[in-house]
Amino acid sequence: MSVFDCAAAHIKSISPYQPGKPISELAREMGLDESSIVKLASNENPLGMSPSARAAAEAALADVARYPDGNGFDLKQAVSRHHDVATGQIVLGNGSNDVLEMVARALLGPGRSAVYSRHAFAVYPLATLAAGASGIEVPARDFGCDLAAMRDAIRDDTRVVFIANPNNPTGTFVEADALERFIADVPAGVLVVLDEAYSEYLPPERAYDSVRWLAKYPNLLVSRTFSKAYGLAGLRVGYGLGQTEVIDLLNRVRQPFNVTSVGLAAAVAALADQDFVRATAATNADGLRQVRSFLDSEGIDCIPSFANFIAFQVGDAAATNRRLLEQGVIVRPIAGYAMPQWLRVSIGLEAENARFTDALRKALS
Ligand SMILES: *Cc1c(COP(=O)(O)O)cnc(C)c1O
Repeated sequence: MSVFDCAAAHIKSISPYQPGKPISELAREMGLDESSIVKLASNENPLGMSPSARAAAEAALADVARYPDGNGFDLKQAVSRHHDVATGQIVLGNGSNDVLEMVARALLGPGRSAVYSRHAFAVYPLATLAAGASGIEVPARDFGCDLAAMRDAIRDDTRVVFIANPNNPTGTFVEADALERFIADVPAGVLVVLDEAYSEYLPPERAYDSVRWLAKYPNLLVSRTFSKAYGLAGLRVGYGLGQTEVIDLLNRVRQPFNVTSVGLAAAVAALADQDFVRATAATNADGLRQVRSFLDSEGIDCIPSFANFIAFQVGDAAATNRRLLEQGVIVRPIAGYAMPQWLRVSIGLEAENARFTDALRKALS
C-alpha cells in the first residue's frame, strides 16, 4: 500500500482548489508576450496597491532576517482603530483563507458538520473536509444564499455556518436586515462566519456594519482581507473579528508566525490609505457598468454582481474559455462551483475590460 492508499478517506475525497491561470503559464503555453496578456481571473485589484503600502513593504524587507511579530501588534492596533474593536477581538491570518482554516481546525472535526450554500466560496468545503467534518451544501436561490433553507439545514452536529457576502463566484448579496435576522436565529453553539472579502465594493446604499453586531451575537465571526480592495493579494494578509472567547479559540490553532513581517507592515499602511480604497471602489463601479452593459447588449445572461467580478453564462464555457485564452485573456471557469456553463470575469481597468469584451465577442461569434 502506498502513502496515498493509506491516506484518510476524507483527504482523498477533496478536490483541490483551482486557482486562476497565472500570466506566465499562459505566456509559456501559447507563446504569447506576458505584457500582451490580460488576467481577469482572480479578483485582484487592477490599480495594484497603495503607494504607501508599497513603501512600507519595501522598508520592511530590510528586516526579513527577523521573525515577524507573532502577535501583529501594530496591525492589530490599526485594525482596532479602524473598526472600533478591542485588540483581543482580532485574529490575524495569512490571508483570510487562513482564518477560515483556523475556524475549521478549532471547531470542526469528525462527527461535526458545516453548512454553506451551493456556489459558495470553494474554501468552505475544502476547510470543512480537510478537518474531517461533513459539509452540508444548501441549494441556492437565484444563485445566492437561501437563508431560510440554510437555517433549516443546521443539525445538532453543526458547528459552523459559512456565508460570503457578497459571495464569490456569483457576486450575490444578502441584505443586512435579513442577514442579521438569520444570525439571531442560529443556535448559540454554531459559529456564523461572515466572510466580507468584498464589502469595500458595496455601494453606499447596501453597505452595513456587521462589526456592530459582534456585541449582540457571541457566535459571530466577521472575516476581512487585504487581498482585494487593498491590493495585497500576493502578501497574504486577512483578519477575523469576533468576541474574545472565539478569537481565543482561533489563536490556539494559529501558526505562531502566520503573517509575514512584510505583509504586516504593508497592511498597516494600506489600512491608513482609505482614499486608495475609495478610488478602487469607484474604478470597479465604472468597470462593472462597462462589462454589464456589454453583456446586456449582447444578450448574455449574467448574475447581477455586488463585487469586483461578474459571472456570465455562455453554454460551452470550456470552449469559450479556450478561445479567450487564445486571445490572451484569462477569466475563470467555474465548473467546480456547479456552474459548468458559466465563466467569471474580474473587473479590470477600462482598457482591460475592453480587451475582454472584444475577445468575448470574437469567442462567441
Ligand atoms: C478572495 C476571497 C477571500 C480572500 O482570500 P485571502 O485568503 O484573504 O486572499 C475570502 N473569501 C472570499 C469569498 C474570497 O473570494
